[in-house]
Amino acid sequence: MLLRPLIDLLFPPLCHACKGTIPVTGTEETPPQPFICTDCLGKIAFLASPLCTLCGAPFATENGSDHICGTCLSHPPFHTSRSAAVLGGPLQELIHRFKYGGKTHLGEPLALLAFQRLEDFLCEAAPDCVVPVPLHRKRLRQRGYNQSQLIGEVLGKKLRVPQVVGNLRRLRWTEPQTGLDAGDRVTNVKGAFGVRDPKVLAGKRVLLVDDVFTTGSTLGACVDALREAEVARVAAVTVARGIQR
Ligand SMILES: [Zn+2]
Ligand SMILES: [Zn+2]
Repeated sequence: MLLRPLIDLLFPPLCHACKGTIPVTGTEETPPQPFICTDCLGKIAFLASPLCTLCGAPFATENGSDHICGTCLSHPPFHTSRSAAVLGGPLQELIHRFKYGGKTHLGEPLALLAFQRLEDFLCEAAPDCVVPVPLHRKRLRQRGYNQSQLIGEVLGKKLRVPQVVGNLRRLRWTEPQTGLDAGDRVTNVKGAFGVRDPKVLAGKRVLLVDDVFTTGSTLGACVDALREAEVARVAAVTVARGIQR
C-alpha cells in the first residue's frame, strides 16, 4: 500500500490525548498503533517490575525482582492480574472521555496500549477466550456501550481468541464503587455476578477484561462467578490501576 504513507504525510495522525500531530516514521505498513504522542506517553506512569507475580501490585521499592506479595501469600488468589499503568495524567483523561464522554473510538488506543505493555503476560496466560466485566443492563442502557467489552474486542483480536459476551452477567444492581472504602466495595459487589451458561466456559482459560482496577473487588466478584462455572483459570487485565498511597 503506497497510499497509506501519502495519507499520513498529508494528514499526520493526531495524538488521542493532546490532539497534537504525531510525526510519521518510516513508510512500512505497521500494525495498528495507539496514536498517543511521545510527550503524552512520557506522562503515563507505566507499571514495571518489581510487581507481585500474582495480583500485579507494584512494590514500593524500585529494585528487586517480581515476587509474591504478603496479601497473596496469606490468601492465594485464584486468578492473576495485571494493569498497564497507574491511573493518572493523560491516561486518566483518556479513560474518562472513553467511559463517560461517549468517545467509544478511544477503546482501541487504550486496548492497544494495554496490549503493548502486557504482551508477555497476555501471551503467557494463553487464554481461550476473553470475557469483559459486564455492566448492569440499566447502566448499559444509560451509557449505550460497555467500555470493557470494547477493550476486550481489541484484545481478543490481537490474541486471536473470541470474546464471550453476555454469559458472565450482573445479577443485581450495585451502587457505583466510587466513594466506598475497600471493605464496602467488596460487600457491595459480592455475589453480584453470575454465569448464565457454565458449559461454555468450563475448563477454559479466561482473560477477564476491565478498564480500571481500583481495589480489585469487582474483578474478585467476577472471578468468584467464573470459578463457580469451573473455568480452568483466570488472568485479569485492566488498562489502569488506581494506586492508593
Ligand atoms: Zn499527546
Ligand atoms: Zn499479590
